[in-house]
Amino acid sequence: MFTSLTSRVAALGIIVVLSLLVLAALLFDASLKTRASFDNVAHSAAVIETTNLALMELREAESGQRGFVLTRSPLFAQTFEQRVKDSREAINRVVALTADNELQKSRAQGLRTLIDQRIASLRETMELARRGSFDAARDAIAGGRGRELMTSVSIHAQGFLEQEHALQAQRTGMAEQRLARVQWLALIGTPLISILVLLVSLMIIRGIRRPVGIMQDAMTSLGAGDRDARIVNAMGSEEFSRLASGYNVMVDQLKAAVSDRSRSEEELQIANAELLRNSAALRERGEVIELLGGMAHRMQSARTDEELAQVIHVFVPRVLPGISGVLYAHNNSRNLLVRIADWGTLASSHDDFAPDQCWALRRGQSHFVTAPGTEIVCGHVPDKQSIYHCEPLLAGGEVIGTLYLQGVIAPEYRFPLTVMAENIASALFNHHLQRGLREQTIRDPLTGLFNRRYMEETLALEIARAARSGEPLSLVMCDVDHFKRFNDDFGHEAGDIVLQAVATEMRNHFRDGDVVCRFGGEEFTIIAPQTSSETLLERVEHVRDAITRINLRQAGRTLGSTSMSFGIASWNNHMDREGSALIQAADAALYRAKREGRNRALIERMAAGALEG
Ligand code: GH3
Ligand code: MG
Ligand code: MG
Repeated sequence: MFTSLTSRVAALGIIVVLSLLVLAALLFDASLKTRASFDNVAHSAAVIETTNLALMELREAESGQRGFVLTRSPLFAQTFEQRVKDSREAINRVVALTADNELQKSRAQGLRTLIDQRIASLRETMELARRGSFDAARDAIAGGRGRELMTSVSIHAQGFLEQEHALQAQRTGMAEQRLARVQWLALIGTPLISILVLLVSLMIIRGIRRPVGIMQDAMTSLGAGDRDARIVNAMGSEEFSRLASGYNVMVDQLKAAVSDRSRSEEELQIANAELLRNSAALRERGEVIELLGGMAHRMQSARTDEELAQVIHVFVPRVLPGISGVLYAHNNSRNLLVRIADWGTLASSHDDFAPDQCWALRRGQSHFVTAPGTEIVCGHVPDKQSIYHCEPLLAGGEVIGTLYLQGVIAPEYRFPLTVMAENIASALFNHHLQRGLREQTIRDPLTGLFNRRYMEETLALEIARAARSGEPLSLVMCDVDHFKRFNDDFGHEAGDIVLQAVATEMRNHFRDGDVVCRFGGEEFTIIAPQTSSETLLERVEHVRDAITRINLRQAGRTLGSTSMSFGIASWNNHMDREGSALIQAADAALYRAKREGRNRALIERMAAGALEG
């Protein structure tokens, strides 16, 4: 019922106040009764005193009467009437005072009657004496009736006074008893109420101090950073329970607010990290695009296959770090994929292969194996457990090659790979186109040998080199013997076949460094750098011999055999640097070979200045 501290304090306060009121009431009542008792005692004293006064005045009146009668001196009679009057008044007062006590009242009335009788007898005697009948008065006194009456008065008064004295004693006892009770009440009640007040104070202090301590502990923990500092103890009163639950709600909200704040901070950090990642990715992508641009530019500027391979060898590992690989491209007849370039640590076991060996080439899209056994492995891959990626190279509407990459291409490298594959494809395509065009300008279409323009350019270059180095440089001029006859006998096409056959023979027998050209018609020129006329003669003899062995056939028929005549000359410092003197010298030797019967090789030996002669 008293769960509220306020109501408890109020209740205890009321108890204390009521106790004080009860004590005060008891004390007041006791003091009233004591006072009444003392009034009764005083009343009895007044009764006794007044009775004694009435008796004393009666005796004085009797003494005055006797003195007057015996001495006849009127002095004695002077105070008689006053004494009688005072006695009567006193006994009347006694009767009035005893009105509260019937027994004493009737006794007082009896005493008054006796006193009245004695006064009457005294007056009779006084009347005799006043009239001068002193003797009769003396006889009346001596008669003894007065004495009898006085004795009756004394006896009656004594009984009355004894009773009144007893009453007084009784009333005194009661007054003292009541006084003792007042003292007792004061003595016991005050300490009891003091103890009660003390207990109430202690209860109030305890009811405040304990919950305040609990709250103080919780708040100290909260202040020290413990966000789970809650109040779970019973607080002992409604007020402190409400305070505790209010505190708990506040801490809950505080915790929620803190976690909200840390959550938004976390989200902010995540967004920030994402932003950083994105900007890093963008920067990386920018760098890769720049790299790809540089690579594309260099590939487009490459003149030879070797230069192209070099660019690829340097740039691919930069675009795809840590990935080794090989670039394959179709050969001219498109029946083989040949290795153009490689990079990284790839074993040289990767050979050329047929187009149908590669799934990327077949399907025209990326083909990759990210774990052994999860995809078909291309035929050109030597290790069937390989993890690899084949990227087809598409340009000009056709597949022109493939990029073989060892390992897994991470998603962030897919984009650079695609762009790079396109760049390589278009570079290869352009390169082949350019090479084709260039070939057309320097090659003779019928024999595939270099043409005369190329021969003249090369000769000037080689003469310059020989002039610089001092190394020998020789040249062959040759001509098919009686070629006209083939044309005449078998037709112009048969003549062409003879030209192609001798061209093949010459290509096969001269060194790689020798430049074999068609000079025009059925005449050919061979530039042989770093070769003397004698050394060249040996090589020419082999060619000449081989040509005579050619069995010329056309559409199933035999065209017979042919032969060639050769003129050889070497460059010297007296000749011009364009090469016409050297050509003329070799031509002169050829002319001699023709004249001397054909199918032979001759060296033109010239002394300095011989040409001018
Ligand atoms: P030799 O050199 O042994 O003195 O006799 P020849 O018959 O070879 O003499 P000539 O140099 O006079 O004949 C060259 C002929 O070659 C003339 C021309 O019709 C022919 N000719 C030139 N160019 C071609 C060609 O591209 N194809 C064919 N089929 N014939 C050609
Ligand atoms: Mg000729
Ligand atoms: Mg000829």
